[in-house]
Amino acid sequence: MAAAPRPDLLDRLAVQTAERESAQLRRRLRTIEHADGPWLETGGRRLLAFCSNDYLGLAQHPQLIAAFKRVADDEGVGSTSAHLICGHRAEHAMLEEALAAWTGRERALLFSTGYMANLGVLQALLARGDLCVQDKLNHACLLDGAQLSGAELKRYPHADVAAAARQLAARGEAGALLATDGVFSMDGDVAPLHELAALCRREHATLMVDDAHGLGVLGEDGSGSVRAAGLGQREVPVLMATLGKALGCAGAFVAGPAALIDGLMQFARPYIYTTAMPPALAAAALTAVQLAQTESWRREKLTALISRFRTGAVQLGLTLSPSSSAIQPLVLGDTQAAVDAAQALEQQGLLVTAIRPPTVPAGSARLRITLSAAHEEEHVDQLLDALETLRLAPAPG
Ligand SMILES: *Cc1c(COP(=O)(O)O)cnc(C)c1O
Repeated sequence: MAAAPRPDLLDRLAVQTAERESAQLRRRLRTIEHADGPWLETGGRRLLAFCSNDYLGLAQHPQLIAAFKRVADDEGVGSTSAHLICGHRAEHAMLEEALAAWTGRERALLFSTGYMANLGVLQALLARGDLCVQDKLNHACLLDGAQLSGAELKRYPHADVAAAARQLAARGEAGALLATDGVFSMDGDVAPLHELAALCRREHATLMVDDAHGLGVLGEDGSGSVRAAGLGQREVPVLMATLGKALGCAGAFVAGPAALIDGLMQFARPYIYTTAMPPALAAAALTAVQLAQTESWRREKLTALISRFRTGAVQLGLTLSPSSSAIQPLVLGDTQAAVDAAQALEQQGLLVTAIRPPTVPAGSARLRITLSAAHEEEHVDQLLDALETLRLAPAPG
């Protein structure tokens, strides 16, 4: 029998891209020519954005910029190597100490991105034969990390602690990690952390929380969803969070017991085999940590803007998601409806992205509206006025 002809990989990819296009699911890149707080200039137009993750409005803070410039002047731009060679600078060490103290943990370890942090943790902790239990709405990189680890991946329906319990109990002999977003990135709701912690204690499973959207935003001092739930390192030994969202920088860290951090330094390949973040960026992030802790008015302002939005949206008859975080999605269901709504808002000078499958489950396309302490009340009102003109039909079901 003649072998089938070898497929051309680039042709196959082009066919897949064309399929995305015809299903209205093609992702498009937009170049931002200038950023000025929540205002973005693109295609020669100035748009008011409700889609960034700069929840505390720190990305353009003068003190972050000054710290960044000072260290760039003194130390240059690149860290010149991986942490374990000669890339680990005093700025990284100070930032790790500050992150550990803020989150109430023994130690912290920097990664270049959150994606890499999650790949690193899961690949270091889990092995073939282990069990990794995850919320179905977890961020893509937690799922990818579990796959990379070779462990068996079980996904439970969103926030369904009983289902997670069944998945753990079914394999009582296996090493087990339960991983959840703290604040869900596309929905804005908080994971049932207390119940998950109790479950993990009963099942002797390790609990990991990805707090990319909780750090800086939740808790009195902004230390995130875990401490806001009254939980600590004992209940949640593995905490990961990013520096690119509320802290307005880039990069990520994992915080927890010394044994975790020591082990990650030995076994987390995305830590070992990559260039350390620029020291100037670490200095800017340290400044951001200090501001996030001390300037609680940013969280108070954000909270006030969130409730202004929710109150206004309810008055418009819009169906809100059960979220008290900066992420306030309007789930429209149909992909075309979400794309049309985003385009109509853009015509009115507002930038809100339509989030479509496969980023969210089929039938749950949405406008992912995010609020920031960089917004003002009149910005929220402008958004509500524009939403009123759209006459959005709520998602079926
Ligand atoms: C953004 C995000 C990440 C990835 O972080 P990056 O630093 O952007 O790579 C991981 N987890 C969650 C929940 C996120 O929202």
